[in-house]
Amino acid sequence: MAVITHARPSLEVDYRTLSTDDQDRFDQLMERADHAGPHDYQPLMDTLAVLTGINARDVARCSCYTDAYGCGCAAIFDTALPGAVVTATNSPNCNLSQLQCPTCGHDHPRPITD
Ligand SMILES: [Zn+2]
Ligand SMILES: [Zn+2]
Repeated sequence: MAVITHARPSLEVDYRTLSTDDQDRFDQLMERADHAGPHDYQPLMDTLAVLTGINARDVARCSCYTDAYGCGCAAIFDTALPGAVVTATNSPNCNLSQLQCPTCGHDHPRPITD
């Protein structure tokens, strides 16, 4: 019987496993990406992808990290992953939406209700 091994590409990393320097860089790059113009956004996201080692066009940190109702999850993940749940759309003049990682989106989703 064949054993199927699930080789997992790096689609998620835990924010807490980053060095404090990289956490600072991540926060700063996300802040800049949030307010970046159309030409600056993708280079910032590409830098974030390299920083986190996630091969993605867009990355996000699970909204459970800062949300008062969150579980404390600190996953950084590809926003294109199936199962990611949008919990808040971007506010005017900002690029980034709030998302839950697929695990949280499955376990305790809080999709936009308004
Ligand atoms: Zn999560
Ligand atoms: Zn969660």
